[in-house]
This record gives sequence, structure tokens and C-alpha cells, in this order.
Amino acid sequence: MPTIEEAIISTKESLPQGVCLIAVSKTHPMDLIMQAYGAGQRDFGENKVQELTEKAQALPADIRWHMIGHLQTNKVKYIAPFVYLIHSVDSEKLLRVIDKEGAKAGRVIDCLLQVHVAKEDTKFGLSPEQLEVLCATEVWKELPHVRIRGLMAMATNTDVEEEVRQEFALTKALFDKVRQRHFADSDSFDQLSMGMSGDYELAAEEGATMVRVGSSIFGHRYYAQPALAD
Ligand SMILES: *Cc1c(COP(=O)(O)O)cnc(C)c1O
Repeated sequence: MPTIEEAIISTKESLPQGVCLIAVSKTHPMDLIMQAYGAGQRDFGENKVQELTEKAQALPADIRWHMIGHLQTNKVKYIAPFVYLIHSVDSEKLLRVIDKEGAKAGRVIDCLLQVHVAKEDTKFGLSPEQLEVLCATEVWKELPHVRIRGLMAMATNTDVEEEVRQEFALTKALFDKVRQRHFADSDSFDQLSMGMSGDYELAAEEGATMVRVGSSIFGHRYYAQPALAD
């Protein structure tokens, strides 16, 4: 097993230039995050609001915290003051709440729209059709405290490489279409978050600008207690 420092460095080396590595630190203790930090890592991803908030309060202020998990509207207020990027926006309602909390916190909050392309139906996100419907409204034009930066997706958890590659390619095609139709006159729709430990190299080949890598850096996650309801 490589050390966390070694894993950060070798993962970065295996990514094309310009692809951002987000180290997914959910369930892992702060000392492991600080080992990654020591190797120069600054982007970290968490999927639970409470855990994200606790870690952000205790750890260095120059860490960029990415919310990658399902976000309930009533929890937005806890992360609005500091979150760097919300990857998991999947409804107009959530977007409106993020705008409201962004206004209260005096900031513009960067967001990705999460699109569901995987075969599993347990995963969150907008279907390609729902994505189209939401984008057609261009609701963000009336929400000055959110900025849509791009799309996020997860591929099916399968060893069939061709299936995973097709899902990433579909996501990239959706990204290009939304950018062309709705963000042609803005430079800020420029992020495509896809790829995890098992498939991030494929995702990068298919056009990811951010990959979210957890277990291949920090090791397996152990859920000693039932996960806290979030
Ligand atoms: C946990 C998680 C990851 C990282 O998964 P690994 O397989 O551990 O790399 C990436 N994205 C999301 C949304 C996650 O919840």
C-alpha cells in the first residue's frame, strides 16, 4: 500500500494537465486529510453536510471543500458560507435555496448540475430529459448568488469498460450541448466532474476536468457506526 502522500502524487501524475484532483475524504479522519494536505492537496470532497462542516472548521482555511453528496434544502445554510463547489444540484428548488443562502452569506456559490447517466436507479441526479427541462428555464438568470459551472455524473459501477466509457461520453455530449445552447456567451460553464477511483482515467480521457477519487488514495472506508442521517 502506498502512503497517502505517494497516492496523491501518483494520482496527479496519471491525470492529463489541467484535470483537477478532488480527494474524497468522507468517513476518513482529519489526520489522513492532513497527510494529503502535506503532499500539496487542497481540493477535498465530502458527501455529508455535518462531516463537511466539522472538518472545514477544524482544518486549514485554504482547503477548497467540495460538496459531492446529495444535498437537502434545509442543510444548505450550513455550508453556504464556505463551500467551494456544490457538485450535486438536482432540482430548481435546491438551486433557489442555494441562491437565497448565498445572498445571506454575501457570496456567489458555484454549482454543478448532477446528471444521472448510470444504469443503477439508486443514484441521484437529473435524467438527461430533466436536465434539458431545467436548462430550458434558464432559471439561474434570476439567481444572482449561484453560478452554474458545469455538470457532474457518476458512471455505473461495473467492470465493463465500454459501458462506463459510453456513459462518460454521453455526459460530455450533454455538457457540450448545454454549454452551446445556454452558456455560449459566458466563460464560466467550464467544469465536468466525473470519474472515481475505479474509472477516473477513463473519465479524463472522455473529457473530465475534475475527478473525485477516494478509496484509491485513503484506502477503504469503514462504516463503524450506522451512517448519520443527513
Ligand atoms: C464516495 C464518492 C466518490 C469517491 O469514490 P471512490 O470509489 O472511493 O473513489 C466520488 N464521487 C462521489 C459522488 C462519491 O460519493
